[in-house]
Amino acid sequence: MTHVVVVGAGQAGCALVAKLRLEGFDGKITLIGEETVPPYQRPPLSKAYLLGEMELERLFLRPPAFYADHGIDLLLSARVESIDPAAQTVALEGGEVLSYDALALTTGSTPRRLPAAIGGDLPGVLVMRDLRHADRMAPELVSGRRVVIIGGGYIGLEAAAVCAKKGMAVTLVEAAPRILQRVAAPATSDFFRALHGAHGVTIREGVGVDRLAGEGHVSAVHLADGTVLPADLVVVGVGITPNTALAQAAGLTVDNGIWTDDHARTSDPHIWSAGDCASLTFHGQRIRLESVGNAIDQAEVAAQNILGRDVTYVPAPWFWSDQYDCHLQIAGLNLGYDAVHVRREGEALSHWYYSGDRLIAVDAMSDSRAYMVGKRLIEAGRSPDPVVVADPATNLKALLKG
Ligand SMILES: Cc1cc2nc3c(=O)[nH]c(=O)nc-3n(C[C@H](O)[C@H](O)[C@H](O)COP(=O)(O)OP(=O)(O)OC[C@H]3O[C@@H](n4cnc5c(N)ncnc54)[C@H](O)[C@@H]3O)c2cc1C
Repeated sequence: MTHVVVVGAGQAGCALVAKLRLEGFDGKITLIGEETVPPYQRPPLSKAYLLGEMELERLFLRPPAFYADHGIDLLLSARVESIDPAAQTVALEGGEVLSYDALALTTGSTPRRLPAAIGGDLPGVLVMRDLRHADRMAPELVSGRRVVIIGGGYIGLEAAAVCAKKGMAVTLVEAAPRILQRVAAPATSDFFRALHGAHGVTIREGVGVDRLAGEGHVSAVHLADGTVLPADLVVVGVGITPNTALAQAAGLTVDNGIWTDDHARTSDPHIWSAGDCASLTFHGQRIRLESVGNAIDQAEVAAQNILGRDVTYVPAPWFWSDQYDCHLQIAGLNLGYDAVHVRREGEALSHWYYSGDRLIAVDAMSDSRAYMVGKRLIEAGRSPDPVVVADPATNLKALLKG
């Protein structure tokens, strides 16, 4: 193994190249990213950074000198246009061709937009995925202005919290019957609906967007039920699409993302993939995990397997979200839950998801103890009696013993 090429200089790409060096790889590493800045963390883009409470430098995953210091060629503003798996080469925009012994695709994802036919491309309609988006959005968040947020997932809710904190008049529209429907139980949706309501955010659920209107700039959102919401700004947070085009064109298997096996290897033996763009099997289902934890863990497994270590990737999902003063932490994945047990201890609140007798996930609202205990129990495959868990008199840490 002499040259590892990594396409996509984000969370997973950065973790992968760092792990290669940590594992003692002394060959050539090239990390290629189309953005203009070194790899950075995205979560603050819809939280502290958007609020103006975090400096750009603190977003960087590694100090800019890290790459040169570790002999990693970091090519920025460089876009890979195609892969030739037979020749083991990648071609960059501009014509440069690089040969690889091993290739990793860590290309992330693209935010979905509303169709141009319904006004999705009007000026003033913004999405949130990268630094440019955050820098474009931040100056628009001015007290007294009206913002309509489309999509009640975590990105939409975080944007709503930031806008409310900035003193804007915020309406959030969710087409599904409830916010967070795709990712959380009704109890968690109820908690966040109430939290936003307490901060003056209006949430409209179960109603879709008919069209966005405006002359030269968005000025209103027309809902399917005939309501017209005046808007100075529209933020669209309706999910992401994995960046699979390169893989697809190269003939790799794509199935809800770039198909990977339990070693983070794609259908081509010389190509690995990790992060938002990659799909994997989890409890019999082919899923993607759109989270920092997965991007790092899967990338590190890929790095080790590139070096021939034979490491199996066993996902241990975790996630977090910050809205106002609430720090939500999620352990596990609630796919296929059939019961949710609520634990309330003073201000601390947690929702415990069970599939049959099996504990599979915990949503902990400003309750780091419930998160920590839940995560350790899930990873150990242990499922305490839900009645005991829900009892505020139960000492959660004691559940870890025995
Ligand atoms: C606003 C926001 C808030 C989030 N909050 C949380 C959170 O609270 N907790 C959490 O766990 N997760 C959160 N996430 C998700 C998390 O950031 C992602 O899951 C993670 O960044 C995925 O890492 P990745 O390396 O797969 O993709 P990315 O970090 O997106 O990196 C992919 C990179 O590849 C580049 N690229 C793509 N194609 C090419 C090409 N052909 N040539 C060159 N470069 C290319 C892209 O430009 C990008 O820079 C959030 C995401 C966003 C956008």
